[in-house]
Amino acid sequence: MRLQVAFVFRENNNSLYRANLPRNMIENSMFEEEPDVVDLAKDSTAFPVLLYEVVYEPRSSRLLVRGLGENEMDEDEEDCESSARLLGMSFMNRSSAHRSTSSPYTRQSPPRSCSRPSARTLVVCVLFLVIVVSMTMVLYFLPECTFTKSGCRKQTTPAEPVYPISTNGEMFPWAQLRLPQSIQPLSYELTLNPDLDKMTFTGTTVITMTVRHDTKRIVLHSANLNITKATFKLGDGKATDVTVLEYKPRQQIAVKFSEELKAGQQCVLTLNYSANLSHTYDGFYNSSYSDKDGNKRVLAATQFEPLSARKAFPCFDEPSFKATFQIKISRKPDYMTLSNMPKAKTTSLPSGLQLDEFEKTSVKMSTYLVAFVVANFTPISKNVSVYSVPEKKEHTEYALDTACKLLEFYNSFFEIVYPLKKLDLVAIPDFLAGAMENWGLITFRETSLLVGKQSSLLEKQVVASVIAHELAHQWFGNLVTMSWWNDLWLNEGFATYMQYMSLQTVLPKLDIGNLFLDVRFRALEKDALNSSHAVSTEVNTPEQVEEMFDSVSYEKGASILLMLNASLPGDQQFRKGIIQYLNQFSGLNTDTDNLWNSLTQVDVSTQHQNVSEMMSSWTSQKGFPLVTVDRKGDQVTLTQEHFLLTSDNATHTSSLWHIPVTYINDTCSLAPDCKQVFTLKTKSGKTYSCQSWVLIKWLKLNHGNTGFYIVHYGDDGWAALIDALINNVNVLTPEDRASLIHNMFALSRQVLSLLNYMTNETETPPVTEALLQLNNIYRLLDKRQETDFVSRMKVRILSYFGSLMRNQTWDEEISVSKQELRSALLETACNLNVDSCIRQAKALFKKYVESNGTAHIPGDLQRVVFTVAAQSEESWSTLLEKYSKVSYDAEKRKMLQGLASTQDTRILKEGLQGNIIQTQELPLVINTVSSSFSGYLFAWDFIQENWNQLIEKFPVGSFSIQKIIKSTTSQFSTQAHLNQVQGFFSSLKERGSQMRSVQEALETIRLNQRWMDRNLPSFNEWL
Ligand SMILES: [Zn+2]
Repeated sequence: MRLQVAFVFRENNNSLYRANLPRNMIENSMFEEEPDVVDLAKDSTAFPVLLYEVVYEPRSSRLLVRGLGENEMDEDEEDCESSARLLGMSFMNRSSAHRSTSSPYTRQSPPRSCSRPSARTLVVCVLFLVIVVSMTMVLYFLPECTFTKSGCRKQTTPAEPVYPISTNGEMFPWAQLRLPQSIQPLSYELTLNPDLDKMTFTGTTVITMTVRHDTKRIVLHSANLNITKATFKLGDGKATDVTVLEYKPRQQIAVKFSEELKAGQQCVLTLNYSANLSHTYDGFYNSSYSDKDGNKRVLAATQFEPLSARKAFPCFDEPSFKATFQIKISRKPDYMTLSNMPKAKTTSLPSGLQLDEFEKTSVKMSTYLVAFVVANFTPISKNVSVYSVPEKKEHTEYALDTACKLLEFYNSFFEIVYPLKKLDLVAIPDFLAGAMENWGLITFRETSLLVGKQSSLLEKQVVASVIAHELAHQWFGNLVTMSWWNDLWLNEGFATYMQYMSLQTVLPKLDIGNLFLDVRFRALEKDALNSSHAVSTEVNTPEQVEEMFDSVSYEKGASILLMLNASLPGDQQFRKGIIQYLNQFSGLNTDTDNLWNSLTQVDVSTQHQNVSEMMSSWTSQKGFPLVTVDRKGDQVTLTQEHFLLTSDNATHTSSLWHIPVTYINDTCSLAPDCKQVFTLKTKSGKTYSCQSWVLIKWLKLNHGNTGFYIVHYGDDGWAALIDALINNVNVLTPEDRASLIHNMFALSRQVLSLLNYMTNETETPPVTEALLQLNNIYRLLDKRQETDFVSRMKVRILSYFGSLMRNQTWDEEISVSKQELRSALLETACNLNVDSCIRQAKALFKKYVESNGTAHIPGDLQRVVFTVAAQSEESWSTLLEKYSKVSYDAEKRKMLQGLASTQDTRILKEGLQGNIIQTQELPLVINTVSSSFSGYLFAWDFIQENWNQLIEKFPVGSFSIQKIIKSTTSQFSTQAHLNQVQGFFSSLKERGSQMRSVQEALETIRLNQRWMDRNLPSFNEWL
């Protein structure tokens, strides 16, 4: 599905602009679907964890921010408010939601009627209570039937389900979120008539279905559609008008029949409807841009994954209801249309409009993959076509060339030829995700597809990655689809893995390996939280479906596939397994077990390892193991335990993984065949002995960090590795060095001395990882105004990296890896106010402005240059002016990051309004504002104040909302802020209080607090 834009762009990747500290702790309370009826029993117990944790915080434990005396504060808000005032900023009005911080936790008076009971009222009250409790029990348990992989289990009581009431007052004949399995759609004929002047559309959907089981109802999805007429035809019978019932909370419609439809019968339902084009980023939505003459041009495009096809046409909107689609769209003559299939014919209508008719899809597909676009785009074509607005046509060549190469690669790698007749890649001006893999019509954000003439390889890497990801989906996701969203990782983990794998082969100059390594480190960080979830996890509500689009599905999914591939002998086992899987399930839906079984079948013949057994341990439980090495003479003992950033709440001690442990040692560490593999399946002490180990100086486990686990070597083991690196950094590969740095920070133990070897380090992966980790701590201390620590850290960072920083050039740099290194170093240097860095950046900006845009700033340096420039008021205005004129979007985004890095937080409001700054960029703006000292409190206030508008644009649970929550809360480390965050989110109720990212945010703040309490003393010593 969608490739999320943030991850693609590594906005936060390098140093300063990233908020990514430790987290964890609250139990991951899975929430249940909203009941159909008012659920009296649930209200009182909605947030037990939060309730417990908020109320009795002793005031003395509150840590105050920004140096205010405690006696000056009464309310939590004040900590934040006054500190902002201290900085001389005007303060935004707080939302009422925020003001009510503590209200859900105060004791409520009992109902007045029973407060001073007479004997009679007491009896009445007791009777009343008994009735209420009985009704509540009935209502509570019935809607419990939520959808799971195995469907809805029958209750032991024979009671009828409680059916909800339709919009027209009649009983709605279905009481679950998942659709009944009794009807299978076979084909859809869609006719759509969008009116881009009025921003509305009308449509006709003809659905041919077959009856699987006898039934008296047809239930399907429809959202925000006004159904004007419906007819039904059974077999060869006559079409008759039928009444359509609607139950809006579940986005379902239904037709009831007096006679049973019998299994095996075919029937046709025809629905006419009208609707508004959506003003958000999903469904059939309107988008606009300014052409080169400054005129506003409008267009309409679709984004259906995961649950929005139902907003464009009534349908069975679950991935397992695959069907064929035949689509017709009318348009004005100066527009064109695109859909999944090639255009079959165009006819002129009496109204003067044209009607484009597309071929029927040659394959069955899930509704979320249907797509269409009405616009006036221009294409360039080979065997693939790339479309953009006419002004940006010259930016499409790189995408065309890359897509052709990758398509050829996948056709041969999977040994299954791409099955549709055409493949279009389209850059949509207003687009929220990075891209969407609609079959045959992949839609992209402009930044994910278009490449400027002077773009660096690092910018091309972004575009190539997204294309590689979306093309992989044409097989993983489109041809073989997960049965339900609980296994989203089968789509996303695979597409993510294939994007790195394919680019390493097809475009090795892009150096994609560093990015993949970084992605694995970040996935480990998220999965080390107690609020993480299993790769394959139960999904119930629409919000939970949205939440599946996170780094566990994408990056952990990709990481465990890499681990599996790296542990198999030879390089073909894995490939053979996935070819078998694709062939076996072509056109069908699958679950995780299907995948492991396919791989096991191929693998078993050559290796005595049960892939299914091993990999299930990685997909069915959350988190990952910490492997501890204990070496004595010729013996090495390994143990594994569930690694949690906070072990205080280690409720999952029974977790056990089958770990394909790889290792190297000082006698052989660099050549590919040095790597040894074995599987660690037990929890406690597995001892291995080998005579020759007596002579070995050190062991490094998890070779190349291809495994999804971290390692603790014990004092002696770490010391030996540090010694070796201080003598010669090249005894380990850069990936292994980066892996040690990552593990060391994750463990927060006394191994900071590892960094002593850093003065000799010049390679990208270890330097960027160390910078990222040190910058995270730096920023946290900075936000707490620990000025002494901050200045000492600055000295420390410069002592490690100062000479490397000074050695960086500011000219064009060819190598991607060196660009990554340079931007990380210079961004840190300028953020630490290193004179030479600031001077160079200002000079480059001056040259750029004076040349009137002809002087080019190298792509990898644009962010640091624009950020430095934006700090002066005059340059900020210049930059804003440039921003509105520059046409190349990657450059525009970096300008935006510069604009958002200052105290001028107008940019937040602009992003929300969407005029000067597109609303699709708001998550990036919030992230950048939050990362600065002057902006992080503003950003937090901003989201509280504007929450309702935010969730209107970005659905609750969506990746954008996840990112916004993380950006605005991950740098808090005080009890006062913890209380604020907890209070705000719990007040949201159904508007977001139960999101997993809220749990993550709270866990992160607690971890930050804990890190401060526990580690500052040792950190102090180290500094
Ligand atoms: Zn994807």
